[in-house]
Amino acid sequence: MRLHRFHGGLALPGHKAESTAGGLRTCPAPALLRVPMLQHAGEAAEPCVVAGEPVARGQRIGIARGASGADVHAPRGGRVRAVEPAEVPQLPGVPVAHVVIEVADDAPTVAMPPLAPDADPELLRARLRDAGLVGLGGAGFPTAEKTAVRRERLVVNGAECEPWIACDDALLRQHADEVVLGARVLARIVGASVVQLAVEDSMGEALAACRAAVETHGGGEVEVVVVPTRYPEGGERQLIQVLTGLEVPRGGLPRDIGVVVQNVGTARAAWRAVALGEALVERVVTVTGPGVARPGNFVVPLGTPVSFLVAQAGGYTPAAKRLLLGGPMMGLALPHDDVPLGKTHNCVLVLGGAELRAAGDEMPCIRCGDCASACPSRLLPQQLLWQSRAGRLDDARSQGLFDCIECGCCDLACPSHIPLTQQFRVAKNELRARDAAAASAEAARQRFELRQQRLEREAAEREAKLAARKAAASPEGVAAALERARARRAGAANDRNEPG
Ligand code: SF4
Ligand code: SF4
Repeated sequence: MRLHRFHGGLALPGHKAESTAGGLRTCPAPALLRVPMLQHAGEAAEPCVVAGEPVARGQRIGIARGASGADVHAPRGGRVRAVEPAEVPQLPGVPVAHVVIEVADDAPTVAMPPLAPDADPELLRARLRDAGLVGLGGAGFPTAEKTAVRRERLVVNGAECEPWIACDDALLRQHADEVVLGARVLARIVGASVVQLAVEDSMGEALAACRAAVETHGGGEVEVVVVPTRYPEGGERQLIQVLTGLEVPRGGLPRDIGVVVQNVGTARAAWRAVALGEALVERVVTVTGPGVARPGNFVVPLGTPVSFLVAQAGGYTPAAKRLLLGGPMMGLALPHDDVPLGKTHNCVLVLGGAELRAAGDEMPCIRCGDCASACPSRLLPQQLLWQSRAGRLDDARSQGLFDCIECGCCDLACPSHIPLTQQFRVAKNELRARDAAAASAEAARQRFELRQQRLEREAAEREAKLAARKAAASPEGVAAALERARARRAGAANDRNEPG
């Protein structure tokens, strides 16, 4: 099969072997699980349990709200200790409801009745929704929503390009068969005639497992495609370009060119939701970096604190300097490790001092253009930087600021060590806040205008009634009323005298 190239990107040292050597390990449930109601792209779910209530593993504890919401289920059974607000790392400063569960080993498990994988596609899609399935690659978009439109091509994304993260690699080595079966379920739902399972050429063991699984379970539908290892190839747009040569239009979505991309972990979870009736209550997380004693890939109950998971990996080493949720390129820096893991969290990375760039070493831009050469979104980062620092945010927007996928390639390429990506995050947040304020001001203006119109209409109606009463009370009005009454009486008398 002929592959294509995407613009820019970087060849980075993988650091995958550090965590994949021991295979998939199981993280036991801690005594307390703190389950966030926001583990997906849309609105936070509404808790549907109360403190003191017993819960079973797999029981729904949060009800989806809004079009892009997702249900949340109890990762383990036990008793609800509290339903309380707390921050989630992706939304600092915004309180989100968390259901705190005291885990009991003897608590029951509930599951939905299994479905046949060749059941009606709408029935299968409804199952993904009922299982609370969201994209496990990081974006967290509800899978039922993402598979609502028919597409010709399904890409199952095993191209895990960010350094250190190896959860998909570890999952494929052990569960490629369920990934392939899940790919067929997803293909049935969207009606795809082309199904490609993309795996990087550096993932030898996972690749062999995928080929064997396709041989056994692929049914002639699923094709394994080996793609070169280059960051950020795991991005939806970049992977689509590599596989098809087509670019997703600016401001558009993969569906605009007939493609849907699902992560390998999502495909496996889809299979388990259909075949076993399992809700999404756990995921594979990589715990790695020079700051962790025994790096590995763990199956983790959702709601497990980062601190507990790091302890399962042998705890911190003296080298530990910085904690990230995600990889070194796109991960979120965590101020502490008392953070519960959710559906979209694929990696806990603990970096040492050697991996950190010294603060304050930024130098002026020398207009070398290296950032533009590295940008996979074909942007001009130096220009966006200048516009956003000068407060010309609308110019930055029109130059494609929102097409920036925050991959960090420009930062790494920049010889002046300018934190471009951070600047773009700030600029986007500022624009989003400004847009939200403008939308709310416009809604207030419309409400005010509607109120004014209502008040004016009511005043006009009152005036009309008053005028009518006044007219009725004038001498001419009284005479007209007497005349009308006389006419009514005469009409009634005529009716009585008419022969029956
Ligand atoms: S962070 Fe944004 S601007 Fe920088 S290389 Fe990535 S997509 Fe381009
Ligand atoms: S890479 Fe850095 S120094 Fe070069 S043009 Fe871009 S921002 Fe300027």
